[in-house]
Amino acid sequence: MDKATPKADLFKANLDRAAPLLAKLKDDGIGHMIDGQTVPSISGATFETRSPVDGSVLAKVARGNAEDIDRAATIAAEAFPAWRDMAATMRRKLLHRVADAIEARADDIAVLECIDTGQAHRFMAKAAIRAAENFRFFADKCTDARDGLNTPSEEHWNISTRVPIGPVGVITPWNTPFMLSTWKIAPALAAGCTVVHKPAEWSPVTADLLAQIVKEAGVPDGVLNTVHGFGEEAGKALTEHPAIKAIGFVGESATGSAIMAQGAPTLKRVHFELGGKNPVIVFDDANLDRALDAVVFMIYSLNGERCTSSSRLLIQQSIAEPFIEKLTARVKALKVGHPLDPATEIGPLIHERHLAKVCSYFDVARQDGAVIAVGGKTHDGPGGGHYVQPTLVTAANAKMRVAQEEVFGPFLTVIPFGDEKDAIAIANDVKYGLTGYVWTNDMGRALRVADALEAGMIWLNSENVRHLPTPFGGMKASGIGRDGGDYSFDFYMETKHVSLARGTHKIQRLGI
Ligand code: NAD
Repeated sequence: MDKATPKADLFKANLDRAAPLLAKLKDDGIGHMIDGQTVPSISGATFETRSPVDGSVLAKVARGNAEDIDRAATIAAEAFPAWRDMAATMRRKLLHRVADAIEARADDIAVLECIDTGQAHRFMAKAAIRAAENFRFFADKCTDARDGLNTPSEEHWNISTRVPIGPVGVITPWNTPFMLSTWKIAPALAAGCTVVHKPAEWSPVTADLLAQIVKEAGVPDGVLNTVHGFGEEAGKALTEHPAIKAIGFVGESATGSAIMAQGAPTLKRVHFELGGKNPVIVFDDANLDRALDAVVFMIYSLNGERCTSSSRLLIQQSIAEPFIEKLTARVKALKVGHPLDPATEIGPLIHERHLAKVCSYFDVARQDGAVIAVGGKTHDGPGGGHYVQPTLVTAANAKMRVAQEEVFGPFLTVIPFGDEKDAIAIANDVKYGLTGYVWTNDMGRALRVADALEAGMIWLNSENVRHLPTPFGGMKASGIGRDGGDYSFDFYMETKHVSLARGTHKIQRLGI
């Protein structure tokens, strides 16, 4: 379908593409993928996954528990030596094949992701392509994974190398689940680790598709295993399993704390990508048109269910009024609708419980004394699902709950500030530290603010544009560790030091 195709035709094409896939999903259900086989839970237990569009049951999903995790972890441990020792060039070839297969099925992945999560098609179409890019990028890094340093001393050559840590657990959330899981799984596989993946229980559909794609691409059985189920059952068991050497986790900060405690007895290495309450700071000398576009995009795209969303707008007092006026008009004009409709900018939220959480902040805002300038209600959308009006909260201050807590929806809190010092203090006055966005044409100020912000990633005069070699991760309650480029290998690999003597140094002689 090219750009000239009318939107109504594209909507119909998306619905037509989704229909047979959904029918098959309903018939087949979703099993675990363990050792290359689709299997039910040992207990036979299942749970239902429902569409956020209309609440209909999409599939019965195997509900894994500690027994299923044990099976998958044991298989991952058995598959590890051969995968570790496979020539890196062969691993590279296989991971490129996975990328090819994702690209070939990108349209299927996009429509299924939309129906399973409520995300708008305009974003999910790109998410599948980005997932393929993640595999390609790390496929090409397979041959560098073991690289180390030579740091010679007078009597020795000191060489470091890296070896894969072993079977690892990957636990992922429900926001952009396909793209996000590839971001963790691709580097783990490239490093030579085998994986047990526990996808989020609210979005199991495309995780199953990924497991199938990886198998069909020829990755040996047992290298990627997927166990579905709930966090407190399957997720917890994965973090406690002795064969699993590390946990790559993306999700809420409170869950990260729980995982750290659960993993302590087996000394798990952990990598956490957690919540955010990210500031976008707009100074009065900025290019305000570009800033406005970025402000709107970074909180209302992906339903605001995005860890890097700029959910706090810090606007300089001198320009607050005209900027908020333009912002208000843009938020009012956002199109809420069916996720497969290409015109849709905001789809239904993932789950009724999440809708209730987001809506609870309307009262919180009012009780705090802030003003709901736009939205503040559920939205009557097609299918009657979990739609919410995009919401803009003004007249807030930094101490209010709407300025402190992660809402994780299309919900923006506006906080005015006086000067640079004031902006930095407000920006840092939260428990999180994932991203920060700064808009100013004063280069010195941009650099000063970037230095002062307590966040793992800063964009100056830009929205979040991901470049895969760069470090991705947060400070404070937003995470531990970095993903991306070589940083991913620091997590999935052990650094080993090998010292070679020149044979000339004096060895102390005892017991003579
Ligand atoms: P969540 O923490 O509720 O769940 C994430 C995953 O953890 C799910 O698979 C869940 O089943 C599992 N889980 C839950 N309890 C567990 C336990 N005790 N032991 C092991 N696993 C357990 O998060 P969510 O609601 O699915 O996702 C939204 C959150 O993720 C937001 O806070 C968001 O900011 C964060 N997030 C962060 C990033 C990042 O890169 N920093 C990216 C995306 C999402």
